[in-house]
Amino acid sequence: MIHSLVLDDEIQQYVLDVSLREDDIARELRMATMRLYQHGMLTPPEEAQLLGLLVRLMSATTVVEVGTFTGYGTLAMARALPAHGRVITCDISAEWADIGRPFWERAGVADRIQVEIGPAVETLDALLADGAAGTVDFAFIDCNKESYSSYFERCLELLRPGGLLVVDNVLWSGKVARHDISDPETDSLRALNSALRNDKRIELSMLPVFDGVTLAYKRAKD
Ligand code: CA
Repeated sequence: MIHSLVLDDEIQQYVLDVSLREDDIARELRMATMRLYQHGMLTPPEEAQLLGLLVRLMSATTVVEVGTFTGYGTLAMARALPAHGRVITCDISAEWADIGRPFWERAGVADRIQVEIGPAVETLDALLADGAAGTVDFAFIDCNKESYSSYFERCLELLRPGGLLVVDNVLWSGKVARHDISDPETDSLRALNSALRNDKRIELSMLPVFDGVTLAYKRAKD
């Protein structure tokens, strides 16, 4: 029984050929991002497409994104929202979000995207202090890995019961499974992954796609 197919280049290309729907605007933003030294942080286009589909599936109107980078995933999620919907996206760097903004404008979704620059924990705490707990439909965490547990707790509190939290890079190139590897990022991801298994507040699925994607659905309180 095959539990998971290891994608070689040929299969990966096939997946893209038959399923990727990336228009000129998204492709040009991706190309602009690929010119950056930090381009490895770009959300893969097929993953951004999944995020958009999940946002639609949730009939979300309010999305929180922790880690904007150049806003490629932000664009996919904003496009999946109704016109009055909103993505509140957090990043430490305004410079990267500025790369995405012209593309958000071309796509006609810039007014759905609220960029919050600063440490994401502070932004999430400010949202909670403003009474946003229980109001968010969908959250995506893709930021500095050392702080993932802090982001997870705050995003879970922001989510409504029945909301969905998506956590990216949970396999961290497989390093989390290799116990001879210990560094702050890997240890943080490993701790979060282990904690979620027994977390009664969520329904859980860890998908071994891309760099590992955890889906956590917020249960209603008993
Ligand atoms: Ca990522």
